[in-house]
Amino acid sequence: MTNLILPPATIGIIGGGQLGQMMALSAKMMGYKVGVLDPTVASPAGQVSDFQIIAEYDDAKALAELSQRSDVLTYEFENVDIDALSEHKDRLPQGTRLLEITSNRLREKTFIQDSAKVPVAKFIAVHDAQEFKMAVVKIELPAILKTVSGGYDGHGQWHVDNQADVDEIINDFPTGTLILEQKVPFKKELSIMVTRDAQSHVTMWPISENVHVNHILKTSLVPANISVALTKKTQQIATEIANELDLRGVLGIELFVSDNNVWVNELAPRPHNSGHYTIEATNVSQFEGHIRSITGLTIPEIKIEKPALMLNLLGDEIQQARNDLVNHSEWHFHDYGKATIKRNRKMGHITVIGEDNIKKLYEWSQTHGQH
Ligand code: AMP
Repeated sequence: MTNLILPPATIGIIGGGQLGQMMALSAKMMGYKVGVLDPTVASPAGQVSDFQIIAEYDDAKALAELSQRSDVLTYEFENVDIDALSEHKDRLPQGTRLLEITSNRLREKTFIQDSAKVPVAKFIAVHDAQEFKMAVVKIELPAILKTVSGGYDGHGQWHVDNQADVDEIINDFPTGTLILEQKVPFKKELSIMVTRDAQSHVTMWPISENVHVNHILKTSLVPANISVALTKKTQQIATEIANELDLRGVLGIELFVSDNNVWVNELAPRPHNSGHYTIEATNVSQFEGHIRSITGLTIPEIKIEKPALMLNLLGDEIQQARNDLVNHSEWHFHDYGKATIKRNRKMGHITVIGEDNIKKLYEWSQTHGQH
């Protein structure tokens, strides 16, 4: 679909979390109307949109209503009901193939390796304990067992470092399709956001260097401190994947790197947490880029003037940051407006720009943390 969708047309977003909220804010700034589908009353995205339909994401009737009230549809997470969404393909420039691939680790890894011809960690599909035992022999430990769908922030993952781990997993073997993936000897975790406009022109944002704590993203530092050769290789990978997917909308690519090697870990068919720094640090944010791509607009070359750091605020860190806000005029403070604070829940984030402010924010994060 290459229709040009101009303001004040309506953009319908499936999912009302913080990614939807930041998409909605960008869209509103450009003059679009925004509708959101989410079961939570006054969801983060619903708070800043023109209307919210309160229903489950897989409620076909609610999805049809969102579609009927919108000129273009998009989503803020990958676990969307693809069959229900297929009914509204004519309003979905991103298409459903992107979701089919990225909602299933096995399809995703196979696509990255075989179609985009980009390296991934060695992996084998596993359906039961017997296959798991055989895969352990072929893959060589250490490895990670992952569910193919529905996992996030470390849920649905089991470390398989030694025989004791193998025995323990077999004792209570998870159901469904899984993959056993070799652990790669990475030094850094990176990500890159990429998009493509309706004329197939690829646009990328600077690469971020990410630190995870307990499987949850903690900080993103940009630009990543990697060699020129690795930067080029990563950008090349992003271009290959974007073209091979016939991409529209923003795609987040998570990668592992050692001194000379790059492996793709996973793909997110939407703007990504590690790209939040783009709101303040680049000329066009990943959210505006996403809206521009799905509405058929062109996207300028992305520029960054100074390094940036994004710190996620999890659980009650949001309250600590709110209390300290008055002391930090350098913070770009984002509070998603979630009604309930829960441990490890992403409640907001802080972005700072420039070396001195980055240093200060690292110091702040070391003396503040979830209780
Ligand atoms: P994922 O949910 O696949 O992003 O994995 C969560 C985290 O587990 C990653 O951010 C890595 O720190 C670690 N991890 C996942 N897969 C691998 C792998 N193949 N090798 C080494 N570490 C991994």
